Amino acid sequence: MTFLILGSTTCVICAEPIATVRQSARLLYAHGDDVGDIARCGRSFVHCACWDVWPLRPRWAESTRRLMAAAAGMVSVRGVMGHKPGMRDVLVTDTAAPFEWTIPTDELARVLEALHSRTPTTLEFRHDWWTVARMAAGVRLIGVHRRECCVDLTLRDVEALIEVTERLLHSDSAV
Ligand SMILES: [Zn+2]
Repeated sequence: MTFLILGSTTCVICAEPIATVRQSARLLYAHGDDVGDIARCGRSFVHCACWDVWPLRPRWAESTRRLMAAAAGMVSVRGVMGHKPGMRDVLVTDTAAPFEWTIPTDELARVLEALHSRTPTTLEFRHDWWTVARMAAGVRLIGVHRRECCVDLTLRDVEALIEVTERLLHSDSAV
């Protein structure tokens, strides 16, 4: 398990240290056949800005999507995946962001409402605060954990996000 140590952990793409959590994202797993040897860096941290312009990004995201879509019980719409790792939570992954969002099952309806809302909505689950704001480019998601911003990302495929959330909400079989 790799931890993010601010100012020390380096971005896999540019090799510069990551200064703030807000600037960072965490790579998901990709297959070596798709992206080459750098596949070993799955779960490593990157700057969001580096990921956004990384030439390997589309291939990496597509590789993650294929790996995940093959898993049993996975709900998938384009690059957005959802499954229930346990009874209490669902895990929604946007392979393009890259981002994994753990949502308590009983909060899914509120998340869906927030995704549809034209005004920013802030939700609290388990002492984390999530602000969901529709923008022209997608949905901006800001996560605050222990008063510190831990996520600030734009998820671009809003329709896929809504569909996956809806299917998880209405399905007991997606386990
Ligand atoms: Zn970087």
